[in-house]
Amino acid sequence: MNTIRRKIPMPFSLPRRIQRFTDLAFNLWWVWNHDAQSLFKYIDKALWDRINHNPILFLQQVERPLLNKAVQDLFFLDRFDAVIEKFDNYLKSEKTWFKNTYKNLDNELIAYFSFEFGLHESLPVYAGGLGILSGDHLKAASDLGLPLVGVGFIYKQGYFTQSVSEDGWQETRSYYLNFAEVPIIPLQDEAGLPVMVGVELPGRTVYARIWQVNVGRVQLYLLDSDLEENSPNDRQLTSRLYSNDQDVRVSQEILLGMGGVKALRQLGLTPSVWHMNEGHSAFLALERIIELIEKGKTYQEALEIVKKNNVFTTHTPVPAGNDQFPIWLIDKYFAQTWPKLNISRDQFIDLGRQAQSWGDSFVMPVLALKLSEQRNAVSELHGEVSREMWHWLWLDRPVNEVPITHITNGIHTGTWIARQMNNLFQKYLDPNWQDKADDPEMWTKIDSIPDHELWAVRKHLKRKLTVYCNERARKMWLNGNFHPVQVLASGVMMEPYSLTIGFARRFATYKRANLVFRDYERLMRIINNDRMPVQIIFSGKAHPADEPGKLIIQQIYRAVKDAKMGGRLIFLEDYDMNIARLLVQGVDVWMNTPRRPNEASGTSGMKAALNGVLNFSVLDGWWREGYNGKNGWPIGDHLDYQDYNQQDDAESRELYDTLENEIIPLYYESRSADNLPNEWIARVKESIRSNAPLFSTRRMVKEYMSALYIKSIENNLDK
Ligand SMILES: *Cc1c(COP(=O)(O)O)cnc(C)c1O
Repeated sequence: MNTIRRKIPMPFSLPRRIQRFTDLAFNLWWVWNHDAQSLFKYIDKALWDRINHNPILFLQQVERPLLNKAVQDLFFLDRFDAVIEKFDNYLKSEKTWFKNTYKNLDNELIAYFSFEFGLHESLPVYAGGLGILSGDHLKAASDLGLPLVGVGFIYKQGYFTQSVSEDGWQETRSYYLNFAEVPIIPLQDEAGLPVMVGVELPGRTVYARIWQVNVGRVQLYLLDSDLEENSPNDRQLTSRLYSNDQDVRVSQEILLGMGGVKALRQLGLTPSVWHMNEGHSAFLALERIIELIEKGKTYQEALEIVKKNNVFTTHTPVPAGNDQFPIWLIDKYFAQTWPKLNISRDQFIDLGRQAQSWGDSFVMPVLALKLSEQRNAVSELHGEVSREMWHWLWLDRPVNEVPITHITNGIHTGTWIARQMNNLFQKYLDPNWQDKADDPEMWTKIDSIPDHELWAVRKHLKRKLTVYCNERARKMWLNGNFHPVQVLASGVMMEPYSLTIGFARRFATYKRANLVFRDYERLMRIINNDRMPVQIIFSGKAHPADEPGKLIIQQIYRAVKDAKMGGRLIFLEDYDMNIARLLVQGVDVWMNTPRRPNEASGTSGMKAALNGVLNFSVLDGWWREGYNGKNGWPIGDHLDYQDYNQQDDAESRELYDTLENEIIPLYYESRSADNLPNEWIARVKESIRSNAPLFSTRRMVKEYMSALYIKSIENNLDK
């Protein structure tokens, strides 16, 4: 095998004493370590915020005198050294959960493929929930010591940037990622040339180079086709997420799946678990079959071997939402592949064939289900829905024996916890509480936190969110190119004393962001109640091709700018991980109104619960498992409706009733002599206690390991 060079580029120069800032900047470990973040803030907080918390940009742009001052500052240097020591200890620690639990599996490797990875706002190669989940999976794998690598794309144009016109229309701008400003490390061979892989597309080979991102102990490998060897079109192949062009899309998926396998081989890696997070990467199984056929196996033998250590996670409860291609497109792209597999065209098509109302399609989850032996959905209800949905693939069995299990999603505690909440938990739960985040026993100590301390942190986080909104509005106003309603909409009138509800997510129609507007007059009365005012903050993007989604944004925006709403509705543009963090930490109530059972899991409400925000949501996805009668509020019941109109009427009515009769009075009226809403706080504690351990990626990744990965490892015949 060739030696791979992983030389960290040096895009900045530093005083020798703090040279190791470079290692911190090139490992995303700092993302879930507040002490590491505070080093940057200490030197220049304004710069840190201005550049969206990007350490590389920070070290490039920070004024040299500030660095020189830091090197003379003993208080700073103490903290700096402590962070570096913690970082080094983390990287070399032998005492991980994985090493303790699986003594002889040191040489195994799990490869985790995903179309997107949401690790931090400064590396914008994610669109939404799927990417955040992938990012959180890697971070938890690192914390637990799992031998895992990620495989994905570095998208030069990132995901689009959103602004909203005066009339509420979503406008999108492409974003160009400067590779010198992100923590990616080029992989080079001995001669210093980029490590490359090539995949066959019709009439040509497309090449990609490989970049490495360090995520704690875990490496993420990102493919990039922007190379001189490729045609101008192919150079664009990896520039955007979720293209609507079918040729681009299938080419990307071939590059991710088949190219991803080749990339790992180039790096000398031999995984015994191949995890496809969603169907986008399912072509990886084909590449592995071809490898084995080249070593002398028959197609059937190779297929059986490969299946045994493939793991597939489905995230889509709606048949139309599944990633699929027309058959003619598959003919075009795979005619060259079936001879290599020693199978006929029809045998190949059958691997992904599904009859649709318009004819047959080649459906990626079908391919993934057929080529994996371990399969899971992402919540209990989604498991039921998935077994129904894919029953036609296993007609010899009853529905409940369709071999798709479920592992409910979680969130990476360290990434989503607010700094001050973290301090509180360190003080009252355990100094190392994050290492036990999945232990329900530890969380019972939540009751030992004095109400006034918990409430002080909650108030602080709401003020922080308010200041953020106000400052954004101020910048718009200063900038001058904005209409006053746009300034108003971004929260200039927001204040930190009103009950504040957050609603932020992708604006897909099934999420029903407009449900709360169904009775406009009633909503107006609720939020404008002088004694008990309510604010609602909306944020989120619609896919640029999703016209109905954009219309929903417009509908919300029109309400936001309606003077009768009193400036108590806010729309925060350009939802990203930074805004998500501020919202899930800063509001009082997190609202989610999907049409059941379309929300496979949802994760933003878990982030809210961890930070002491109460959930008020439809009993779908994770909340159906999380809600226990005293840790938040439901919307609707466990019913699915046939008539959507009737459903929206009933559920919106219930939404208003619960707000008026329960949520708002509980927040404002039941106050103690020292003005603490004790009953509210009791609910907050109950919510943290019951939700935090269950919906952590620490619990989730352990479950992947003990329920699915271990089977793949034991099954591994591909040696
Ligand atoms: C957590 C998160 C999501 C996913 O939230 P849902 O509850 O699944 O809608 C999407 N986008 C961002 C930026 C997030 O942080």
